[in-house]
Amino acid sequence: MENFKKFYIDGQWVDPQSSTTFPFINPATEEKIGVIAMGGKKDVDLAVAAAKKAFESFSVTSKDVRLEYLKKLRTITLNRFDELAEAISTEMGAPITMSKEAQADAAIGHLDGFISALDSLEETEKLDNGDILTKEPIGVCGLITPWNWPINQITLKVLPALATGCTCILKPSEHTPLSAIIYAEIIAEAGYPAGVFNLINGDGPTVGSELSKHPDIQMMSFTGSTRAGICVTKDSADTVKRVTLELGGKSPNLVFSDCDLEERVSASVNECMFNTGQSCDAPTRLIVEESCYDEVVKIAKKSCDKVLVDSPKKEGDHIGPLFDKIQFERVQTLINTGIDEGATLLCGGPGKPEGFENGWFVKPTIFKDVTNDMKIAKEEIFGPVLVIIPFKDEDEAIEIANDTPYGLAAYLQTGSDERAKRVSAKLRAGAVHINGGEYNYGSPFGGYKQSGNGREGGIMGLEDYLESKTLHY
Ligand code: NAD
Repeated sequence: MENFKKFYIDGQWVDPQSSTTFPFINPATEEKIGVIAMGGKKDVDLAVAAAKKAFESFSVTSKDVRLEYLKKLRTITLNRFDELAEAISTEMGAPITMSKEAQADAAIGHLDGFISALDSLEETEKLDNGDILTKEPIGVCGLITPWNWPINQITLKVLPALATGCTCILKPSEHTPLSAIIYAEIIAEAGYPAGVFNLINGDGPTVGSELSKHPDIQMMSFTGSTRAGICVTKDSADTVKRVTLELGGKSPNLVFSDCDLEERVSASVNECMFNTGQSCDAPTRLIVEESCYDEVVKIAKKSCDKVLVDSPKKEGDHIGPLFDKIQFERVQTLINTGIDEGATLLCGGPGKPEGFENGWFVKPTIFKDVTNDMKIAKEEIFGPVLVIIPFKDEDEAIEIANDTPYGLAAYLQTGSDERAKRVSAKLRAGAVHINGGEYNYGSPFGGYKQSGNGREGGIMGLEDYLESKTLHY
């Protein structure tokens, strides 16, 4: 790909100012895919200057003009959809079927959500006291994204920036530059004015930190680990930026004996293993009513045995490898920690699955008899590892569920509508999935507590990029 070694700044693919490079690896084969240029302060300054200049005219475009751009973007995204799906599959190991149906699909799903949200957005409103409230784009935005849902995260940030009239600089994960470069080409083809969208590859402590500190950036939107989210917040503090954060999770999944156990427990296991467990909102703590604990354990084991591991290149509903060596070693360490802590291994365990010595493949793993104070119940493992924790009654279930610094999502399996309402009201999480209810594009996504702040997607996702101005007549 010719744009590997370039950045997209001020409407052109340009050579970087810095000479640092970074190899990125195919996680299924451990082979090098390519080498990207890594940016530095000078590249950031150029991109921010371009975005600041473009903001003058782009910020005052009409909603209709911005809607037309988004619709054009939709056509071009569809034209390059298969390429996006293949890039994601190659760079982070998502099996190709899932890469098309979920990973790349997010580019269209979120776009439709934002088109409809922008359509309904009231940019001017008369307040009951006679004052006029206007909504305006916040300014130049720095956008930092992770590798695990690369295009999902990029579109959740770039699209609301473009929709509201902001200008932006995207720094995608250095591990997944392929899909980001294709997405930049899509935006270029849609004909956005020079400087509205800029892309710089680079690492967090350099490009990420320069963006966060830059005095001409008004907002940072960050998705990634809680650790890096704290760095972005601190770096942004001196210039008093708006900072929105989508961080980690350790989401509870409460199973009450009155649900359809066979159906709900097997679906819960699959959901935890989806994307090889590398989803921030994965239901990784299965918290189970004691009266149905033994039955749930049996169903969970049966379901886990059916989770297949295979090459990302093959069509099918198997899971692929973890995305890199560091992640592989981290997951191995945590599986061994679970064994040392006295949890009982129900299936999977340390090591690679048979026949997959090459690539960062791991065994789908479940621990039972886990207590919530164990490390495997507290830490985000970010691999296909589920822990099963028993509870006595509803109050204890809620207590265990909320006993975490995270609050991204929660899951609830029950046959009682009353209980579903009562329990979801007490769960400290940004979303509660009831009996398999799925996320719909256009709904807000984000967390309580150390899972972040702000909401992405749909109307709330647009509002994060807007300032309010009151006119007093
Ligand atoms: P990460 O924090 O290591 O990296 C994420 C991004 O931040 C990358 O682009 C990286 O270069 C950058 N970065 C790293 N250090 C930085 C710093 N000091 N300043 C600025 N930028 C910095 O996370 P990751 O390993 O790429 O992604 C996995 C994490 O992301 C998990 O914790 C997961 O839960 C989280 N995540 C959260 C959501 C959500 O919506 N809540 C979605 C996806 C992933």
